[in-house]
Amino acid sequence: MNKKMLLVGLALCATTAFAQSTPQSGIDPKNLDTSVRPGDDFYHYAAGGWLKSHPLDAEHTSNGAFTDLYEQNQNRIQDIILQYASTPQKQGSLGQKIGSLYNLMMDSTRMNREGYSVIKPTLAKIAAIKNRKEYQLVTAELDRNGENTMMYGLGVTADQKNAEWNIVYVGQGGLGLGSRDYYLSDDAQNKRVLEAYKTYLKKLFAMTGSDEATAEKKMQTVLAIETRIAKASYDRVKLRDVEGNYHKLSFAQLLSDYPGIDWGTVFLASGYPAFDSVDLGQPEPLHEVEKILADTPLDDLKTYAEAKVISGATSQMGDAFRKVEFELSQVMTGVKQDRPRWKRAVSLVSNVLGEAIGKLYVEKYFPESSKQRMLELVHNLQTALGQRIDGLTWMSPATKAQAKDKLANFIIKIGYPDKWKDYTGLEVVDSLSLYENTARIARWNNDDEIARNVNKRVDKMEWGMTPQTINAYYNPSTNEICFPAAILQPPFFDPEADDAVNYGAIGGVIGHEMSHGFDDQGAQFDKNGNQRNWWTAQDKKNFDARTGVLANYFSNFEVLPGVKVNGQQTLGENIGDNGGLNIAYTALQNVMKSKPLAKENGFTPEQRFFLAWARVWASNATDEYVKYLLTVDVHSPNMARVNAALPQIDAWYTAFNVKKGDKMFIPKKQRAHIW
Ligand SMILES: [Zn+2]
Repeated sequence: MNKKMLLVGLALCATTAFAQSTPQSGIDPKNLDTSVRPGDDFYHYAAGGWLKSHPLDAEHTSNGAFTDLYEQNQNRIQDIILQYASTPQKQGSLGQKIGSLYNLMMDSTRMNREGYSVIKPTLAKIAAIKNRKEYQLVTAELDRNGENTMMYGLGVTADQKNAEWNIVYVGQGGLGLGSRDYYLSDDAQNKRVLEAYKTYLKKLFAMTGSDEATAEKKMQTVLAIETRIAKASYDRVKLRDVEGNYHKLSFAQLLSDYPGIDWGTVFLASGYPAFDSVDLGQPEPLHEVEKILADTPLDDLKTYAEAKVISGATSQMGDAFRKVEFELSQVMTGVKQDRPRWKRAVSLVSNVLGEAIGKLYVEKYFPESSKQRMLELVHNLQTALGQRIDGLTWMSPATKAQAKDKLANFIIKIGYPDKWKDYTGLEVVDSLSLYENTARIARWNNDDEIARNVNKRVDKMEWGMTPQTINAYYNPSTNEICFPAAILQPPFFDPEADDAVNYGAIGGVIGHEMSHGFDDQGAQFDKNGNQRNWWTAQDKKNFDARTGVLANYFSNFEVLPGVKVNGQQTLGENIGDNGGLNIAYTALQNVMKSKPLAKENGFTPEQRFFLAWARVWASNATDEYVKYLLTVDVHSPNMARVNAALPQIDAWYTAFNVKKGDKMFIPKKQRAHIW
C-alpha cells in the first residue's frame, strides 16, 4: 500500500542497529570532548568522547541513541516472540501467528532447499500473459499480494482538503532503487549504486533460469523502463510541495485523462469497491507509465514484472539470494556484515503483526506512570509554544489567534493506541512457504486497509506507528502528535531524571513534532487537518522569509568534505528542530520558576539542556550511509541537527557564552527566528 507522504517523523526509521551498553540518563562527562571549544564545534564538544568510545561495528551503518534502543528492542521483542515460537500454539490464535511466522523465517534449511521454486508459479503467471490488457490485470493481481509489479502505487489516505474523509490515492512508484536520483544524478556514489543495482538484477535473472546473455538483456530492459519512470518522477523537494502533489479527480475524469491505464480492471483486481473520486499525486510520471505500457514490447513489460517478483523475494529464497541483496546494501549504505537471521525474523514479525507485538510490548515494558509524566511534559510544551506565539514580532494578532487555536486542538497520542488492530482474518500457515505466507499477508493487509478506509471517514484513533517504534510523528491531516512507547526511554526520556536533561531530549522531540504543525508544510493545514490558508498574506510572507534563512544556512552546511545538505529537502525537519529547541527551552524556563535547578557536574541547567540534545544525535556513520540519507531522507544528517541547528538558537549562545570569533557564531540578525 502506498500512503501519501504526509506523516512526518523524527528520524528515518532504523533498519540496522545494535547496543553496546544500556543507555544512561543524565549528563555523563565521559561523553564530552572538552579539548574542543563548544562555540567551535558543539557536536564534538558534547559527544566527542562518546563518538571515540563507540566505533561502528561491521553490522551497522550508524550507531547512537536510536540504534541502541532499536537493538534493545530486538532482544525484548525476541523474548516475547519466543514464548510462542518455542511451544505449540492453538491454530489461528495470535500466538500461533507470531510463532509460526518467526519459525518460518528462521528455517534456513527449508528456504535453501526450496530456493526459487517458491516463486515459479508467480513467474509462470507472468509468462502466460498474452496481451497488454491482460498484463495490466495480472500485474494488478500480483501487486495486491505485495509484488510491486505495477509502475505506480495505490492506497487510501485522508483527503487533504476534506480531512474528515478518506480518498483513494494514486502515486508515483515503480523504481527498484526508490529514488530518481540514483538513475539520473552525476554524483559518484549514486553512480556506484546504479552499477551495483545492474549487477544485482543481472545476478538475480541468472539465478532464476536466464542464461548470461539473456540476464544481461533483461537487466538492460528493466533499467530502461525504470530510467524513463525516474525522469518523469518528482524529486524529494518537489514531493514536499503540498499543493503540487494533490490532484483530485472524479473517477470519470481519471478514466478520460489517463486512458492508458485500465483503471476499472486495475482497481477491481486490487480489491477496491466503486468510489467517486481519487487524489492523483503526480500526473507526469503517471502519464509516462501510460506511454510505457503502450509502446514497450509486451515481453519487455513482462521482464519488468519478473524483476519485481524476484527482487521482492530475495529474503525468502535462501542464502544465495539474500547474499545478492546484501551486496547491493553494502554499496548503498556501506554496511559490512549482514544482520543475523534472528534479528531479521524479529523485524518481520514486528512489522507484520505490529500492533499484536505492540500490545504485548507495552504490557511488559511501558509503565502507565510514563504516560502521565509525558502528558504533563506535552502540556508544558503546548503552554510554552503558546507563549512564544504571543511574543512573535512578525505575526499579526489575527494569524496568532488561528495558530493558537490549531495548537490547542492537537490530538495527543502517547505510548500505545486505545483501540488495537484486529488480526483475526490474517493467517500464517506452516505448510506454505515463507514467500507464499508473505504474499497472503500482503493481500490481507491490502484488503483490510480498503475495507476499513475506502468510502469511509478517517479513523483518528488509528496510529501511524507501532508502539515499539523508536520514533515520533506529526500528521497534518489529523493535526496529531504521536510518541510511541519505545521512544519514551533514556536517553530520550527518563521519568526519574533531571528536568534539564528531559527537556533537552524528549522535550526537544515533543517540540519538534509540534513545530511540524507549523513548518512550511504543516502551516498550510488548519486545526481540522484541512489544507486551507489561515494566514494573512503579509504574515505568510514574513514566515517564508524566516524559513528561507534556515534553508539557505543548511544548504551551505558541509556534512562531508564537499558534500552539503539540501536545505529545501530538509526544511520541514529543520524548522521542526529549530522550533523544538526554542519551545522546549521556554518550557524548561517555566518549570524552573517554581522548581529551580542547580549546577550538576559543573553544568548549568541550560547547558545540560543543550548537551542532552546533542547526546540524542551523537552517532558514528559510514560515509555511504550519510550520502544515502542525503539522497532519500528529508532529515538533516545527525551532525547537522546539532551544529547547523544550534547557531540559530539565541539561548545556546548565552548558555555557553559563544561569541563572535567562535567558529559556529552567526550574528543575531542573521539567525532564523521563526517560532
Ligand atoms: Zn520530523
